[in-house]
Amino acid sequence: MTARPENTHQARLLRLLRDSGSNSRAQLGDLVDLSRSKLAVEVDRLLETGLVVADGLAPSRGGRRSHNIRLAPTLRFLGVDIGATSIDVAVTNAELEVLGHLNHPMDVRDGPVAVFEQVLSLAAKLKASGVAEDFDGAGIGVPGPVRFPEGVPVAPPIMPGWDGFPVREALSQELGCPVMVDNDVNLMAVGEQHAGVARSVRDFLCIKIGTGIGCGIVVGGEVYRGTTGSAGDIGHILVEPGGRACACGNRGCLEAHFSGAALAADAEEAARAGRSVELAARLETAGRLTAADVSAAAAAGDAVALELIREGGE
Ligand SMILES: [Zn+2]
Repeated sequence: MTARPENTHQARLLRLLRDSGSNSRAQLGDLVDLSRSKLAVEVDRLLETGLVVADGLAPSRGGRRSHNIRLAPTLRFLGVDIGATSIDVAVTNAELEVLGHLNHPMDVRDGPVAVFEQVLSLAAKLKASGVAEDFDGAGIGVPGPVRFPEGVPVAPPIMPGWDGFPVREALSQELGCPVMVDNDVNLMAVGEQHAGVARSVRDFLCIKIGTGIGCGIVVGGEVYRGTTGSAGDIGHILVEPGGRACACGNRGCLEAHFSGAALAADAEEAARAGRSVELAARLETAGRLTAADVSAAAAAGDAVALELIREGGE
C-alpha cells in the first residue's frame, strides 16, 4: 500500500492517531478544530486509503455514541540507523512500537552499495521472522548532512563514496514504499521530541557524541536543517588551528579533539605511555580501546580515564 495523505488535515489526524492510539471521532474533532461535517469527509477519505480503520464504539459522552478509529494495525514501518561502525534495522507498527530489531557491525566507509545490501538483508530477515509482510514506509538516518527534500547525502565528511548517492530513490525502489532520509542526529532530535526528554519543548538542541559529533536543531517544533542540510553539522568546525588530523581530511576539527574516536585514541596513547594500569590492561586484552573502555575505566575509578573525559568536555 502506498496511499499517502492528501492534505494537512489528514496528516494531522494521522499524527494524532500515531501518538495517542485509538480515538473517537468526537475527540478528534475537538483536537483538530474541524467542523463535524469536514471531519467526517477527511476521516472517510482516510478510511478509503486503508491507513485508518474503524475500531468500535467510544464510551458515551452523553447523546449518540461516537465511533472510534485507529491506524491500521497491519501497517509496518522500517527504521534504519546507519552509524559509522554499525547498522540498526527495526520494524514498527504505525503507533511506532518496535516489533523487531537487528544490529550488524559495518563500516560506513564500505560505501552505500555494500551498506544497503546489508540493510536489505536485515530487512528480509525481519520479514522472515514474521513481524512484517511488507513495508508502508521507511525512515533512514545517516551519519552526515543530507539534502532533505531529495534524500541525498551531501559531502558527508566521514562517508567517502556517499556524496550525492540517491539513497531515497534507490531504497524506495528496493523496498517498494516511500522512504525519507535524514541526518541521524536530526532523527534523534525528532525521537526525543516524540517520546523522549523533549516532549514538552518546542526549541532545543540535541547533541550526539558517538564516533563523531553531531547536533540536531529544533526550532518551533520543526527540525532546522539550513539551506544545505548541514546546519547541525558541528563536528567539523575548526576548534584548534593546526590541531589533530581529522577523519574528514582537515585538521583541528571539534570531532578530532573530542568524540568517541578521539577519546579512544587519547586512551590508547595514555595506556601505551604507562599512565593508566586500567587502560593498559584493557588495551592488552582487546588490542584496541573504544570510548566504552574509557567510560568503564572511569566508572572503575581510573584517574586518567576520568581526566580524559573531563578535559574533552571543556
Ligand atoms: Zn573534520
